[in-house]
Amino acid sequence: MRIAVIGGGYVGLVSGACFAEIGHHVTIVESATEKLNILLDGGVPIYEAGLEELVHSNRKAGRINFCNNIAEGIKDANIVFIAVGTPTRKEDGRADTQYVFSAVRDIVENVTHSVVVVTKSTVPLGTGQAISEIIKSIKPSAHIDVVSNPEFLREGCAIEDFLKPDRIVIGVESDNARKKMEELYKPITDAGYPLLNVSVKSAELIKYASNAFLAMKVAFINEVSDICERSGAVVSDVSEGMGLDNRIGAKFLHAGPGYGGSCFPKDTLALIHIAADYGCNISLVKATVESNDKRKLSMINRVIEACDGSVKDKKIALLGLTFKAGTDDMRDSPSIPLVEGLVKEGAIVNAYDPEGMSIARSILPEALNYASTIDEVLHKADAAVIVTEWSEFKKLKPEYFEEKMSSKIVIDFRNIYSKQQFSENGFSYYPIGSSPVECKS
Ligand code: NAD
Repeated sequence: MRIAVIGGGYVGLVSGACFAEIGHHVTIVESATEKLNILLDGGVPIYEAGLEELVHSNRKAGRINFCNNIAEGIKDANIVFIAVGTPTRKEDGRADTQYVFSAVRDIVENVTHSVVVVTKSTVPLGTGQAISEIIKSIKPSAHIDVVSNPEFLREGCAIEDFLKPDRIVIGVESDNARKKMEELYKPITDAGYPLLNVSVKSAELIKYASNAFLAMKVAFINEVSDICERSGAVVSDVSEGMGLDNRIGAKFLHAGPGYGGSCFPKDTLALIHIAADYGCNISLVKATVESNDKRKLSMINRVIEACDGSVKDKKIALLGLTFKAGTDDMRDSPSIPLVEGLVKEGAIVNAYDPEGMSIARSILPEALNYASTIDEVLHKADAAVIVTEWSEFKKLKPEYFEEKMSSKIVIDFRNIYSKQQFSENGFSYYPIGSSPVECKS
């Protein structure tokens, strides 16, 4: 089939490359000149494991190409995906759908054949209906079916998630669109992955409900981890014990510095507004947002307390900045309030992240210093904070920290090290969700 994808960001690029990989012909329309030029030059503008190779091989096979013009991108497409951003609207916390509607208008004004328009962006309940109304108002004679096909990929394992999904959700109202969507995904469903056909509204809500539920799970285990720290229980044991129950499941039960990224923070906020629009109060999600905001801020105090009550003029080394490993995405990362808070308290903050530093430079306070290696970030540091669970950090031994740093303090927000190993080497080691070891010299 011939597909157009409007938006060549994390979702558009991964979806487009994966559709090409399963045999379709894909045109990705990207309006940002800088990103488009990288794509046209054979690179990818984001970091996602395996993506550059996938794009390259499919481009070589003639199945994927790029342009900046919707009219050109959709000219022979059977299906047009909209994968533009739906960020939080600053004024009110709702999902900002202006880029989606602008793409719809461009599609409708330029389309000359029958086509299925699919929202892959995460869009509020009722957006599909609003899109149908826009189509009717601009070109009542157009043969356009509107479909919702939310995306559930996780950055860091996006290609695997797309090609081997837990489920594909299709919100359709017509047989024509349903058949086209089933044909599109046939190579994936033939491999045994389930496709769920529902209404457009249900599909739109499935996405928000799923993300809010997962965010709630993370916030829940983070609060449980506080109880562990004060009581002597160990959160990894509690998570394991809970996760072995099939009704609960082990995923998203890792205590840490609070969730971030491009989805959970904005989708939880948006769901609160969606609920209110229908006269409902989704109080559990409100509590989740509040809990997570507090969680992120509380990380500043953890560092201060580990540094004997003050970080003023102390060298703090941050290992990691991105909201999780495997991505360069800095959106709503827990590192943002942490850096801001430490800088405000007078710390000398140095950071190293394997992939996130170029984006971080445009977001984080100017006072943050960027190191180009782990060696450099740890050099003469008074305390090291593990912010992101990158695999290159997991390999580091206590002896290595000891050699580089001027004090033996490690604050591990991701529980990637062995408390015993660090305490045997005379470190004060502060994990999440179990009692710290304090070695005062
Ligand atoms: P992104 O910001 O990385 O990418 C969006 C891209 O669309 C940008 O490159 C932008 O330049 C481009 N764009 C905007 N308007 C355009 C237009 N009219 N024509 C052509 N290009 C245009 O965003 P993302 O992370 O890929 O997210 C996209 C959507 O998918 C959001 O709704 C998000 O909530 C949802 N989503 C994201 C993830 C994720 O992990 N990132 C997962 C599931 C769903």
